Amino acid sequence: MTEQAQTTDARTPKVNLLGLTQAELEDFFARIGEKRFRAAQVLKWIHQQGVADFDAMTNISKDLRGKLSRLAEVRAPEVLQQLDSADGTRKFLIRVSGGNAIETVFIPDGERGTLCVSSQVGCSLDCSFCATGKQGFNRDLTAAEIIGQVWIAAKSFGQLGSAGVRKITNVVMMGMGEPLLNFDNVVAAMNLMLHDNCYGLSKRRVTLSTSGVVPALDRLGEYTDVCLAISLHAPNDELRNQLVPINRKYPIAMLLASARRYIEGLPDNHRKITIEYTLIDGVNDRPHHARELAELLKDVPVKINLIPFNPFSQSDYRRVSDGALRRFQNLLIQAGFTTTVRTTRGDDIDAACGQLAGSVNDRTRRSERYRDARNGAQQRVQPEPVRFVAGR
Ligand code: SF4
Repeated sequence: MTEQAQTTDARTPKVNLLGLTQAELEDFFARIGEKRFRAAQVLKWIHQQGVADFDAMTNISKDLRGKLSRLAEVRAPEVLQQLDSADGTRKFLIRVSGGNAIETVFIPDGERGTLCVSSQVGCSLDCSFCATGKQGFNRDLTAAEIIGQVWIAAKSFGQLGSAGVRKITNVVMMGMGEPLLNFDNVVAAMNLMLHDNCYGLSKRRVTLSTSGVVPALDRLGEYTDVCLAISLHAPNDELRNQLVPINRKYPIAMLLASARRYIEGLPDNHRKITIEYTLIDGVNDRPHHARELAELLKDVPVKINLIPFNPFSQSDYRRVSDGALRRFQNLLIQAGFTTTVRTTRGDDIDAACGQLAGSVNDRTRRSERYRDARNGAQQRVQPEPVRFVAGR
């Protein structure tokens, strides 16, 4: 144990234990001269019991509790607002440092409860149909801020104790941000979600969704074996270049090859990639798009999730019609694909897919450019209300 590690110095920032993996927590205990097995005890207190106060950790000696209080803390981000939709969807607006706020959404569906977790403050990728992208980008979330969203949601349901009724059965890294651009922190947080001493979620119930950061996807399998979703949204590069700009750098063929390598490298390699396809009226929802998509994916192990575009206030895209949605789905089913439609949930609290915006202290000035462009357009053209839309 170093002199420094034992020192109680008010000027030394306390270590936030919330985002530490078991291995990191073991190292922390070793550094402060304690037994490594304490890590498992403390992890259970934090993540299974929702305890942030060391004094409440009763299987730890009083001396160690005092030492922990001096050197460490369990600090989750602050909940600014909790909104409950009529359909049971729950949205959290969560303050993170730098004058920012992120959003996290819980979506109940029968026995299943899915938490949609954010990975960044805003997003640098600017997909044309996404509210988050329009907010610009500030920074990556820390591992504590990512797992803190799960911690906050679990506590909001009074889910204490691993034997209790689990409200959160699934997690999707599909909120604000591109998870693979915050690789280390996302991997650390996902490993906490899976860990038996924490949330104990099955790897089949945690999904990382990416718009296609191929070099990071190529590395992912070395660190985790969660499920994979691809935000595709178009059946060809020409259209995808418009909707998902990162496609210009990593086109569809490269992305699908990388996704395939990931899924085939999993120990249980019969899992399928989820393809997310946001249907936008007149843009990518025509029968020829469905046929082209079926042709594109015919040799790839996928299931397809269709997402009707959800309006938001910075896009003039329109939601797909019910008829076009059914036609698109039927064509894919006829081509042999398992094809589901994501029901819009929580739109009375702006929690539907693609509507998450939070409050981003935009470092890219993109939000300003969008605002200026919009104001200019409104001044030049007729003052008809502009419909803004989004979706991931
Ligand atoms: S869809 Fe995902 S990757 Fe694209 S801008 Fe939105 S958050 Fe970023």
